[in-house]
Amino acid sequence: MTDRSSTVAVVVLFPDLLGTYGDGGNGLVLHRRLQWRGIASDLLEVPSGSPVPETAQLYLLGGGEDAPQTEAARELGTDGPLHRAVEAGAVVLAVCAGMQICGVSFPDNQGRPQEGLGLLDCVTVKTDEPRAVGELLVDADDRFGLPPLTGFENHGGRTRPGPSATTLGGVRAGVGNGDGTEGVLADHGDGRGKVLGTYLHGPALARNPALADVLLAWALGMAPADLAPLPEADAEADALRAVRLSAATRGNLDGVAHRTWRDRLTRRS
Ligand code: GLN
Repeated sequence: MTDRSSTVAVVVLFPDLLGTYGDGGNGLVLHRRLQWRGIASDLLEVPSGSPVPETAQLYLLGGGEDAPQTEAARELGTDGPLHRAVEAGAVVLAVCAGMQICGVSFPDNQGRPQEGLGLLDCVTVKTDEPRAVGELLVDADDRFGLPPLTGFENHGGRTRPGPSATTLGGVRAGVGNGDGTEGVLADHGDGRGKVLGTYLHGPALARNPALADVLLAWALGMAPADLAPLPEADAEADALRAVRLSAATRGNLDGVAHRTWRDRLTRRS
């Protein structure tokens, strides 16, 4: 049923609902890294209300506000084209609101639990903790073979990974899932796809090209080390990474600093 021809299709889902944080850039990063390696790739933006293709290899869901993310979840359903794509081996990167809706349940704009897509074993809740806003620095679990991951986060929800979930890693600076872990991974196994959720905005793949290559390797059924290196492109990303890693490590851009800054502004207005 799946058209796994030589062109790799990268689909950015619902940028009109889940495009608040520039996460659509993740699609562009995947598309370009394929092209730079001489692998034919199509980049498709699929707005809400349009048919969702079932035969792409890579899907991206970005971050958004509580109401639009509820709408996106309703439209994607619990057994729709995205589920069939994952069943057929597709890889999904879901950022923040995207991750929350991929889970079992997530809060709507009134804090009421809504049914998620069920692609990730996690539940997102609202707590009385302050909104997580600021730099996020993550030590990825060893099995990913990744350097520290950098991004920013901006979310009210806290995500509880379930028993069958594994996480992306541990939080060195910032909040992430809210329990010291960051991200949720579902490996559907046996030729079926993988779904990776994360709170890393940025867009995460521009800041962390090695993570982009992990996703590409999953989608292409190969090891990341077997992908051709891209030293020229990655030199630029390395320079950005060095700045962001240092900012997050110094802690002057973490959630607490941002909250203090925001409180000062709020008091003034
Ligand atoms: N609306 C969700 C929350 O605040 C997700 C926010 C986001 O995607 N950045 O938790």
